[in-house]
Amino acid sequence: MQEAQREKAADWLPVITEFEKPFWDSLQKDQVLMIQKCEDCGHIQFPPSPVCADCLSGAVSWVPCSGKARLWSKVIFHKQYLEPYPDTPYSVVLAKLEEGPIVTGRITNENAQKTAFDGPVKIQYVKTTDGTVLVEFVPAD
Ligand SMILES: [Zn+2]
Repeated sequence: MQEAQREKAADWLPVITEFEKPFWDSLQKDQVLMIQKCEDCGHIQFPPSPVCADCLSGAVSWVPCSGKARLWSKVIFHKQYLEPYPDTPYSVVLAKLEEGPIVTGRITNENAQKTAFDGPVKIQYVKTTDGTVLVEFVPAD
């Protein structure tokens, strides 16, 4: 994990439901982004759900993602919308994981500029100043 110090984020995390808890626990404790795989049909999904979005089976398990993705979309925010993110402009991406799901994450403005759409990116885990682990994408070599 890169020990980049970022803004405080713990106060702005969403309400974590029971079925999302494995995702958050793994991200915060192990710095691993977990996604769900249906044990009945093999469908891979994110965000987490108590059932498979494809076949509605309740037999979904957690698997680590590879961390490899392609840049699907990016936006640069020039206005501060959330208190923990006072430094504008800042960039946010949607990245399509190698496994299929699309994930939202941070990216530095510099990396957003030099990463083309559909270009290879990978996950880097960064800690905020309060210790919250966030997903950030960086260009893949
Ligand atoms: Zn399924």
